[in-house]
Amino acid sequence: CHNELVRLKGNIRVFGRVRPITKEDGEGPEAANALTFDADDDAVLHLLHKGKQVSFELDKVFPPQASQEEVFQEVQALVTSCIDGYNVCIFAYGQTGAGKTYTMEGTAANPGINQRALQLLFSEVRSKAADWDYAISVSAAEIYNEALRDLLGKEPQEKLEIKLCPDGSGQLYVPGLTEFRVQSVEDINKVFEFGHVNRATECTNLNEHSSRSHALLIVTVRGLDRSTGLRTTGKLNLVDLAGSERVGRSGAEGSRLREAQHINKSLSALGDVIYALRSRQGHVPFRNSKLTYLLQDSLSGDSKTLMMVQVSPAEKNTSETLCSLKFAERVRSV
Ligand code: ADP
Ligand code: MG
Repeated sequence: CHNELVRLKGNIRVFGRVRPITKEDGEGPEAANALTFDADDDAVLHLLHKGKQVSFELDKVFPPQASQEEVFQEVQALVTSCIDGYNVCIFAYGQTGAGKTYTMEGTAANPGINQRALQLLFSEVRSKAADWDYAISVSAAEIYNEALRDLLGKEPQEKLEIKLCPDGSGQLYVPGLTEFRVQSVEDINKVFEFGHVNRATECTNLNEHSSRSHALLIVTVRGLDRSTGLRTTGKLNLVDLAGSERVGRSGAEGSRLREAQHINKSLSALGDVIYALRSRQGHVPFRNSKLTYLLQDSLSGDSKTLMMVQVSPAEKNTSETLCSLKFAERVRSV
């Protein structure tokens, strides 16, 4: 029934999530709320920008008070479709500070999609254990300045390459990318901690670094139907994207400018790919960035994609919010 729904609506969903106003937004007029919602339509939001109201329609909008549970409820069916062999991508897009990491990782008290997805996969797989054998494994990688590195590897500095499988299947793989078999929530907590340590030791300011790189958690679910011998493989790609904020052309130089150019290029490449897929264009420019090339198998064919566009409600962020919502609208506009 879910797959029928997906078939009718297409395989790409675009959601919006608005974070609450926080202390960092200040207390003056800049912290005023620039976003409003419709009580009877949860797909619409309105932005007050330079005195004018601009309205956007997405597939669904989560207001600031939406809980992690409510968000996950809308994502669950996508997650479990991996068990049936589908490839899925869930992206968090938006300017730094708009809530991407909160949505994907969350906090210890309020875990986000990553942890909930794995928990759900464990329980679903357990409920099918009478007929199926399943193995769930995870990899974690980061793309920074168009270089891909393994966050779970022994040598996280090493740059990895994306290669075409020699079997002629057209599938891509990353030789050397570490994959850990996980069987419990404790296992994944250990894996996450390890990934964080690896990410942090590489740089002096983790916050800055993480806002300038894409973080990927790749969950692979392999199944075997014991009675028929049927095998399935589904992949769930959970991606916390680099901050989408535009870097002032005059201000940035050197490495900061280079980073900004790489981020710009890969985020627009992602937008172009989703737009091309959604409009069913013949040519999809997967090769224009590492991220889209790496995820090619999980974006094309009967794969399912969710773009979660994160925005800040604060007045001072309206120009970035406008850009993010325009991005959302563009990838949805077909
Ligand atoms: P990003 O990853 O996009 O840079 P973060 O996820 O780090 O942004 O969010 C910035 C701050 O706002 C963090 O302190 C985070 O805990 C908080 N925050 C973001 N979204 C929410 C939310 N929906 N509810 C409560 N706090 C949030
Ligand atoms: Mg973040």
